[in-house]
Amino acid sequence: MKVNPVKGVHDIFDKDALDLKRIETIAAMVANNYGYSPIVIPTIEQTALFARDIKDSSDMVTKEMYTFLDKGNRSLSLRPEFTAGIIRAIVHNKLYALDDLPLRLFYEGSCFRYERPQAGRYREFHQLGVELVDEPSIYNDVEVLLLGYRIITALEIPCLVKINYLPKKESRENYLNALRDYFAPQADKLCEDCQRRLSTNPLRILDCKVSDCQKIIANAPKINDYLSLEEISEFNKIQSLIKESEVDFTCDSTLVRGLDYYSGLVFEYHIDSSSGDLVGAVGGGGRYDKLIEELGGPANLVGIGFSLGLERLLYVYQNSDNYEESDKHIAFYFISMDEKALPIAFYTAELIRSEIGLPCYFEPRVKSAKSGLRAANKKHALYAVIIGEEEVGKGIVSIKNLKSGEQTGVDMSNLISVLTNIFDEENEDLDGEDVPQTKKS
Ligand code: AMP
Repeated sequence: MKVNPVKGVHDIFDKDALDLKRIETIAAMVANNYGYSPIVIPTIEQTALFARDIKDSSDMVTKEMYTFLDKGNRSLSLRPEFTAGIIRAIVHNKLYALDDLPLRLFYEGSCFRYERPQAGRYREFHQLGVELVDEPSIYNDVEVLLLGYRIITALEIPCLVKINYLPKKESRENYLNALRDYFAPQADKLCEDCQRRLSTNPLRILDCKVSDCQKIIANAPKINDYLSLEEISEFNKIQSLIKESEVDFTCDSTLVRGLDYYSGLVFEYHIDSSSGDLVGAVGGGGRYDKLIEELGGPANLVGIGFSLGLERLLYVYQNSDNYEESDKHIAFYFISMDEKALPIAFYTAELIRSEIGLPCYFEPRVKSAKSGLRAANKKHALYAVIIGEEEVGKGIVSIKNLKSGEQTGVDMSNLISVLTNIFDEENEDLDGEDVPQTKKS
């Protein structure tokens, strides 16, 4: 029986999977440089975690959640995003009491949204990101923004950051009222979603991409006119800090982000190249002041975070000017030219992996030297170890350097030490290039 994948999901394999892992590794290294520790949270949560507020206007919560009843009749949902789950984990485990603040956490994994499948938009996709929890500080806000930027630029992708400042408390209420007053008389010209947003959260109308709505949005009251003096001063300080860090950014007063919990600094990462135009934002984030308290945590703590969409990041990464295909770095590719050579090759490869920790690829079929070498090159092996009938008889193997073509015969009894030396020399030549090695000292 052939079973098709679920609509809107996708398999990631071959060079895409390698590149995806490479992106995750680089991101984790950059996050580690900023002192972020990994956190792993469940994929399923109680639905109430995401659908906290009946006034929540985000599409993600109102329309896109994978929600189901489990066998105990509990309403559960697959996570559509990470922030709520991470804050739940922080509060549940009282992480703020265990460690010194700020709490700096790095995550990666799948998210699920029942969206209309289209290019670059999936129902299961991958995100990586961070959450920082502490008392309010513009340094924290800017640190998180910079960290996302540094991850993208570490991948040699040109990045442009868009920022905005969403008003809080009274100024937020004033601004929401101004938006209601402005949009209400023209409600019938707005799309169905925006009509709903008008009564739930009119701020979200500013994010609508429908062209009729866009025309109306163009003349809507501007956020900046409603910020308090304190908020304006904070936003200015944030901008100076970003400028000092030599980050490419612009202010965009229509940027509101897709979730209702943001207040204060919000930002998006856009790609400054032609491939970037095709994918829109690769990620974004912002400050959320009330979520921790809403989920039962201390009222004095606020959070700031970002998430990057891995599929979009992968697309721009692979289409960037400096892209080089990820190398598997197989050190030795074992080719057996005779049945008798197979067990020798098998055990030797196993010994090299387990005893000295070098990556080996064992070809389980008898091959001619020609087809074996073709396969070894395809796998980007550094060396081919060729064992034929004659070699078995004489107790020797041939080692071929696949870059230079040089081939030497080595006595079987010396094989391990010869291969170890070869690999050490190769590693020095690669001069710091990232060759995986788990060699025991
Ligand atoms: P959000 O959590 O909506 O702010 O999304 C953050 C990032 O996740 C976006 O900028 C995209 O890169 C990515 N993303 C969101 N939804 C999808 C989706 N359905 N398919 C692929 N990537 C997505």
